[in-house]
Amino acid sequence: MGKLTPMMKQYMDIKEQYKEYILFFRLGDFYEMFFSDAKLASRELEIALTGRDCGLGERAPMCGVPFHSADSYIGRLVDKGYKVAICEQVEDPSQAKGIVKREVVRIITPGTIIDPTMLNENSNNYIMTYFEDEDGIGIAYADITTGELKTTEFKGKNRKNQALDEIMKINPREIVINENFKYQDNEIEKLQNICNLVFTPHYSRAFKYKNAEDIIKKHFNIFSVDSFGLQDKKYSIIVAGAILDYIYDTQKVPLKHIDKIDIYNHNNFMILDKFTRRNLELTETLRGKEKKGSLLWVVDKTCTSMGARTLKQWIEEPLVNIKGINARLDSVELLYEDILLRDELRELLKNMYDLERLSSKIVYGTVNARDMIALKNSIKVVPVIKDKLKGKVKGELINIFEEIDELRDVFALIDEAIEEDPPLALKEGGIIKSKFNQELSELRSAITDGKKWLMDIESRERKSTGIKTLKVGFNKIFGYYIEVTKSNIKNVPDTYIRKQTLANSERYIMPELKEIEDKILGAEEKIVKLEYNLFNEVRNKVLGEINRIITTAKAIARLDVLLGFAEVSFIYRFNKPGINDSKKIELKNARHPVVERVAGDEMFVPNDTLLDDNENRFYIITGPNMAGKSTYLRQVALNVLLAQIGCFVPADEAVIGVVDRIFTRVGASDDLFQGQSTFMVEMSELSNILNNATQNSLIILDEIGRGTSTYDGLSIAWAVVEYISNSDILGAKTLFATHYHELTELEGKLKGVKNYCISVKEVGDDIVFLRKIIRGGADQSYGIQVAKLAGLPNEVIDRARIILDKLEKSDIAQENEDILKEISMTVEETSKDTSGEQINFFNLNSNEIIEELKKVNIINMTPIDAMNKLYNLVEKVRKI
Ligand code: ADP
Repeated sequence: MGKLTPMMKQYMDIKEQYKEYILFFRLGDFYEMFFSDAKLASRELEIALTGRDCGLGERAPMCGVPFHSADSYIGRLVDKGYKVAICEQVEDPSQAKGIVKREVVRIITPGTIIDPTMLNENSNNYIMTYFEDEDGIGIAYADITTGELKTTEFKGKNRKNQALDEIMKINPREIVINENFKYQDNEIEKLQNICNLVFTPHYSRAFKYKNAEDIIKKHFNIFSVDSFGLQDKKYSIIVAGAILDYIYDTQKVPLKHIDKIDIYNHNNFMILDKFTRRNLELTETLRGKEKKGSLLWVVDKTCTSMGARTLKQWIEEPLVNIKGINARLDSVELLYEDILLRDELRELLKNMYDLERLSSKIVYGTVNARDMIALKNSIKVVPVIKDKLKGKVKGELINIFEEIDELRDVFALIDEAIEEDPPLALKEGGIIKSKFNQELSELRSAITDGKKWLMDIESRERKSTGIKTLKVGFNKIFGYYIEVTKSNIKNVPDTYIRKQTLANSERYIMPELKEIEDKILGAEEKIVKLEYNLFNEVRNKVLGEINRIITTAKAIARLDVLLGFAEVSFIYRFNKPGINDSKKIELKNARHPVVERVAGDEMFVPNDTLLDDNENRFYIITGPNMAGKSTYLRQVALNVLLAQIGCFVPADEAVIGVVDRIFTRVGASDDLFQGQSTFMVEMSELSNILNNATQNSLIILDEIGRGTSTYDGLSIAWAVVEYISNSDILGAKTLFATHYHELTELEGKLKGVKNYCISVKEVGDDIVFLRKIIRGGADQSYGIQVAKLAGLPNEVIDRARIILDKLEKSDIAQENEDILKEISMTVEETSKDTSGEQINFFNLNSNEIIEELKKVNIINMTPIDAMNKLYNLVEKVRKI
């Protein structure tokens, strides 16, 4: 058994500190991985596994990736949820005594990616910290490419659910938790399934109050955390401190662009649970998980990626504060009416690059000269934007105008310093303008002069030797030389010194040539170094102004969203809603913003809605499949949501009393991957609604109780209507689409319940959908007609008609009607006294048994038949 080679010992020492990470160990032009890291990486990246002598008996498994293309490999690993530590050579190998010093310079985890090629430019990539104890929960999250850092805390009985909803809304890529935290596995698993995230345990010291407070004070250079309004916010302090600690630990650079902590109250936003966000297809479709077909797809008319990211946040966080909503709506109105201003501003924004992410490159020191030019060109339009807004601002635009900094100094600095069309590399020169620096300018003239002298020498020598084809050339080995073709050698003077012989020519040098060469080459070398230093100087100066740039970027992002709202409202005929606290939702000729766009040949039929907290609290909506029930329900929810994010709405008129939450229970969304049956999912969505809704909520129910037997389902649906519509219990505004026509019995018996149906016209044996919502219950389901439209074979359709006819004539129908009457009679009592007796659905069973007894024909039965019948009946009676 041998001894580890010194380099492998160095590797082992470093790996020991970064056990949880795949260690990319820099060796020359490669990053190498060893041992288990190598095995894993070669499998995941499909690269060859080799071996390297490490001093021990056996070779160490090894695989490597070239340093210049490492980003894409790192990206793939991180995307799969792995964490990578980058270990670089931190001294010049030519200067090193013994083994080159190496250190981990950066850690890349799913939540801390900064490479733009690995990120989606239109959404944020969040890292989150989570902390809980017996009294509360705190979460903090940050996008380290934009410098955003937010925190909130949860207290009270329902805190766990609220926190989970919030986490799902934020959808972080990575959650950092205290390594000692005992969480429940199933919660984590659930979150992982839904959000595709990784959990990272971090040392518990980071989650200690004192440590967290200290790091916040140090990072923001403040005397007390009170400056951020963090007094009494123990949980926020812990998680905000811990997130800074973790980011420092992984990034290893001071994160200047994280310039404030945004402490928000999650109650300031409309709460949208995960079911609702998915069901309403806010940012992606339910099935395809695509943007196309979602609300975001329709309303995204932003011109910058900063705007696109902000829009996504706004859609997921509608406001509940009337003033805040109106501030946005007033701005949209101004931009809607002033078409010229809107067009001009949008054109200007199209010239802007991603200022936020460019800023982060400056912070991380990964910025190149081309990025600087992109930054300059983006900043160039800022004063023009500000100027256009001057004297015209209203609502939110007032704040935006204030926050936009013209940044003329930053523009001037980059403009003076950086070449217009610089190369990507920073260490090969050509990036700094001559006039920016005296020394640079002198060195450059030395080169130009030198080159001129060379040309002079060339023409002088041609004349004196009479060799017309003589020329001065350059190569890396011999430097500058004079080249003469073989046929002219005889005319070469003695002063030339021969250096190289080629097939057809000879190359010579002479002292004068060498002198100039030294000047030129010396100058070139100096220039490259000087330019690099000057570039870093400029970068550092810009870094000093980074917070102004980021504040401006954020203001411009909001402007972009508001402009987009005005644009979408203009082109799709949206109108400004009135917002108040009336508890009413009144829509005239409202449309579904997405279905309207994809309706194709069929014109979208607009519909009205009037919901209030009194007579019109609860719509029971019936009508055949495909009539447009779901569309109608969602259109109401989306109109409310659009209004509360500050956008105009697809309706001729709208007055919206702010709602605190929208709940939806739509269709049979399959959560089978979570191991729950469809019915179970349906019931847990329903229980979430009944447990969390308030009088100010809007509830959308698209079918409940369908996943079980008819009687079970109807009973549940019925009881739910009673529960929600009763203002003593809930009294939330509700739209309920259902197949249970029986529920229409409830109008007139429960206060606030109204029947509606989506009208259809019968034409012979077929039906035509009119898409108009009208008062009253549907009298038929038209299931067979719809099945016919869907193309079921005629034999099946005809046979179904015969069976339906028989069923309708049998006494089952009559019997059901009798029972319903009986139940309806108990409704009035239930709604008066909720603690009273529940309706006894099991009457159904006793009736069934009586009916069965009536049908028994004893004369025709064998004794065995009679025994069997009796046995069955007794069994049924026992179950009652
Ligand atoms: P239901 O829920 O009653 O089964 P949907 O709401 O799913 O019906 O509507 C079925 C289809 O009818 C939709 O995909 C849409 O294409 C069309 N549709 C619905 N409402 C309208 C409307 N108001 N105007 C035009 N087409 C509509």
